[in-house]
Amino acid sequence: MKDWQVFVVTALLGWVGNGASCLAQTPSGWLIHDLDRPQPRLVQPAPQKLPVPPPTGAVVLFDGTNLARWRASDGGPAGWVVRDGYMESVPESGYLHSADGFGDVQLHLEWAAPNPPQGKSQQRGNSGVFLMGKYEVQVLDSFQNNTYPDGQAAAIYGQYPPLVNACLPPGEWQAYDIVFRRPRFDQHGVLRTPARLTVVHNGVLVHDARELWGPTSWLKNFPYEPHPDRLPLALQDHGNPVRYRNIWLRELRETLADRPKQTVARPYHRVAVEHLERLAGNYILDDVQPLTVTQKDGQIWVQPEGRQRLELIPASETEFFLRSTAGKIMFRLDQQQHPLALTLHLGGRTYEARRVD
Ligand code: MG
Repeated sequence: MKDWQVFVVTALLGWVGNGASCLAQTPSGWLIHDLDRPQPRLVQPAPQKLPVPPPTGAVVLFDGTNLARWRASDGGPAGWVVRDGYMESVPESGYLHSADGFGDVQLHLEWAAPNPPQGKSQQRGNSGVFLMGKYEVQVLDSFQNNTYPDGQAAAIYGQYPPLVNACLPPGEWQAYDIVFRRPRFDQHGVLRTPARLTVVHNGVLVHDARELWGPTSWLKNFPYEPHPDRLPLALQDHGNPVRYRNIWLRELRETLADRPKQTVARPYHRVAVEHLERLAGNYILDDVQPLTVTQKDGQIWVQPEGRQRLELIPASETEFFLRSTAGKIMFRLDQQQHPLALTLHLGGRTYEARRVD
């Protein structure tokens, strides 16, 4: 029995078992490959300057000369052909897999569908970019070629159509710029964060941080299964001689990697309200801009004229930090503890303000 026959029989059994009606079984609310789903609106992309060269530090997976960084599905030599600065899928040669594994990436690649076009729907210029070998951004000649919307060019295959159809005619080079965040699993293999895809097709946004409900597939709806943090990128051989060139990526840091090792600690010094009252008043910044210090109930703020007021946290009688911003104010006091001036350190600059009342 072929895959589609299994699917039909399974669907019928499910329908019989569930009584007279059957609700859609996917998080999108649509059935997989639903032809009633609206076709994405056509958008004519503006002319792009291609190829887009890789930035400094990018991992160049294909520079147009060789397939050294690619393997066949069995781990042997990649079976696609390279000519004139591009690689071309060879029907029946199988998927191409990057030799290295990747997790979170920004990926750029350029592809072209065969010209003249042959076949219809899913048989015309079909290939695909599989992040981690599991999550497919569809490659298809979707120029004047209707198919089910969740399977057209730039669809997250079987899950989400692109927001619009920005496909160029067959034979023309077109670009995908993809931001991929891998799914996160806890130590027990339970999904914590789904995979997320942002895709720009020929300069047009087609997916905006779209959450995937699992690996992409034909007909079926697979749940997530735990997998390694890094897996090879794959390009699909779907029997059509689709071309690729200029494939590069930047590995992205884990989202949480930017957190400080420990929370920034600021000293806190209890200051008498009478002292804060003395500091409060009018100042003039760089002899030009008025700046006001106010206090109420033991809290103190600074406010340059026309700007938001910012809360100050006392570190001593004269030194105050901005609560949430990397900056501080130093007051200069006379012998009676009355302020003469203040110095504001902010954003790598120092500003002087003198007391004016
Ligand atoms: Mg495909």
